[in-house]
Amino acid sequence: MLTPVNLLDFDVDGLVNWFAERGEKPFRARQVMRWMHRFGETDFGNMTDVAKSLRAKLAEEACIRAPCAIRDSVSADGTRKWLLDVGSANAVEAVFIPETNRGTLCISSQAGCALDCAFCSTGKQGFNRNLSAAEIIGQLWLANKLLGGSASPAGSKDGDGEPDNGRVISNVVMMGMGEPLANFDNVVTALRLMLDDHAYGLSRRRVTVSTSGIVPAMDRLRDECPVALAVSLHAPDDALRDRLVPINRKYPLRQLMAACQRYLERAPRDFVTFEYVMLDGINDSDAHARALVELVRDVPCKFNLIPFNPFPNSGFDRSSTERIRRFGGILIDAGIVTTTRKTRGDDVNAACGQLAGQVQDRSRRTVRLVKSMEGR
Ligand code: SAH
Ligand code: SF4
Repeated sequence: MLTPVNLLDFDVDGLVNWFAERGEKPFRARQVMRWMHRFGETDFGNMTDVAKSLRAKLAEEACIRAPCAIRDSVSADGTRKWLLDVGSANAVEAVFIPETNRGTLCISSQAGCALDCAFCSTGKQGFNRNLSAAEIIGQLWLANKLLGGSASPAGSKDGDGEPDNGRVISNVVMMGMGEPLANFDNVVTALRLMLDDHAYGLSRRRVTVSTSGIVPAMDRLRDECPVALAVSLHAPDDALRDRLVPINRKYPLRQLMAACQRYLERAPRDFVTFEYVMLDGINDSDAHARALVELVRDVPCKFNLIPFNPFPNSGFDRSSTERIRRFGGILIDAGIVTTTRKTRGDDVNAACGQLAGQVQDRSRRTVRLVKSMEGR
């Protein structure tokens, strides 16, 4: 028997093509799309407005399969973290962060990460593989279902769920495990589903890709699927950034700043968010803050300061609250909107950079990744 095709791997155009190859009309693909993503349905037999013969054909050839949650932890602050099985002894994590006016889901794009940033526990585990589009969108699919956000087909409340399009998850950030732009095609397929009205219908402003700065892929994202952009900066000069974020050796700050400016020509927001992890005695002095102000002079931006989240043997400490306040004060005095990220969910290791999942390291990281990117 043929392996069934997982329909979660397709964006709308992909599904329309797959249906066309089987002589089915585009509207059929869109119907199935809605059942899968809006209603969280996995059984073709329940797709009542789809012709019976097509339902039977789909049941033979296809499946709808998201990763399974192997652990579900809830933090005292309401943050919820799922450990998801992605096969071959690999697991990745997705985190839901409820706030008063929004619910943000943080999702992963790779099992591990090859970029090996000095302060990141995901990077320390090494890289195993890219997640498929189904595994990426499957995190949103699953969280939506488990949080009761899937709409019911009739548009009414279903059980303890929210009303139609309840928007339990109002924002998605690709800030979990992995470097999204190193898994470009699958990430873009998943992003298109997040934005599509037949699937999740989120606005571009509410979907954020966070990158450590893979410059050519930033340009491609701008052209193919511009969503809100966050860039992990972490240092104001190349010497320090080379140490903390090794991909900087390939795409140094001058190129990165220029790419941010190009991105803003198409971005759904009129600023880039710079993320900056606060490492005690490493990148957190007044002089670093002043150098940052110079560096980003021509890039409309906001700053998000992230207190370092420790993990065993990291070799770094978190900057003190007072230091972070003074550092932020210098940016604010220069007219840059600056926030300090609240550390959420750290009692269940769900805070930034604590996402470790479980990864079977197969490759030796940066060198290999940089080489593979040279061909692009
Ligand atoms: N690979 C992407 C997205 C995932 S990391 C990127 O690097 O942007 C999401 C954010 O968490 C990044 O800004 C990253 O630098 C930050 N981060 C990584 N490890 C951290 C840690 N231990 N403490 C705080 N933030 C961390
Ligand atoms: Fe990868 Fe981002 Fe961690 Fe760097 S910070 S190792 S790019 S996940």
